[in-house]
Amino acid sequence: MSEIKNNPGCFPVGLKLPEMFSRYFTGQAYLQPLTDKGGPISNVTFEPGCRNNWHIHHGEGGGQILLVTGGRGWYQAWGEEPKELHAGDVVVIPPEVKHWHGAAKDTWFSHLAVEVSCENGGSEWCEPVTDDAYSQLP
Ligand code: MN
Repeated sequence: MSEIKNNPGCFPVGLKLPEMFSRYFTGQAYLQPLTDKGGPISNVTFEPGCRNNWHIHHGEGGGQILLVTGGRGWYQAWGEEPKELHAGDVVVIPPEVKHWHGAAKDTWFSHLAVEVSCENGGSEWCEPVTDDAYSQLP
């Protein structure tokens, strides 16, 4: 069972990220797979201040779609300004775009992550978002 009391979204929070993912996150996040079909689709919940490393979803025709279900968070593509996210926001992340996503510093945040199926897909994990850069976000 999840330890968190205030689920910001409407889907189950699930369990703490397994180490194969948590090693690429700063702070604690939770993962609840929802379906292997049509995606697959998982619910991801971030504690305040939690975000993933810069990363790239590879594969022609692939990428990732974020459907924001609660709280306040951020998405940033490499070379672009961070975009503040709230429930109802949709972020379509094309393949080969370096980016990160996660919570705001003071709020829980949750999104569904839809992995767009493609041949030869997979994620490449890069460097963390520095405390310096992250702390400048409102
Ligand atoms: Mn991503």
